[in-house]
This record gives sequence, structure tokens and C-alpha cells, in this order.
Amino acid sequence: MPMNSTAQTPDRALSWQETALCAQVGPEFFFPAPGSSTREAKELCGACEGRTACLEYALANDERFGVWGGLSEQERGMLRRSGVQRYG
Ligand code: SF4
Repeated sequence: MPMNSTAQTPDRALSWQETALCAQVGPEFFFPAPGSSTREAKELCGACEGRTACLEYALANDERFGVWGGLSEQERGMLRRSGVQRYG
């Protein structure tokens, strides 16, 4: 969920945030309490134009919490460990 990120990166690299659908909902949607469902956040990500760029950003910046690019923190961890370099 990029809108609450404090990471410093060039503006161009974050242009996908301009169309981020998560900007239209509250942060609790993308940072659910432990054990809560991430289904609705993932559904919103599925309709987001910047999904792939968002996921790549989260992986590159080792974002540990919340849903990014349609994947939970556990799913991003599995993807990272699998060695997959491209998604989409
Ligand atoms: S893919 Fe999901 S988390 Fe990423 S910008 Fe889009 S809605 Fe937000």
C-alpha cells in the first residue's frame, strides 16, 4: 500500500501512485489487523493500473507490512524466496 510509504525515491519511479486505487480507501484496508482478511484489498489491487509497478516497488524496498501489488506480506516473502524476478 504505497500511499503511506515514507521511502524516498525519484518522483518518476513512483508515477504509478498517481492512479493508485488504494488512495481512495483508508489505510486499514491495506494494513489489516493480524488474522484479518486481505481479500478486499487484493480485489482492489486486481483492478489497479499500477499493480505490477507497486509490487516491484514493494519487493525492491523490502516493504514488510500490508498488501502491495495484490500480495500480502507472506505472499511477497514466498515470491522473494522463490527467486522470481518479474510478475504481472
Ligand atoms: S496495486 Fe494495490 S496497493 Fe498497489 S497502488 Fe494499486 S491498489 Fe494500491
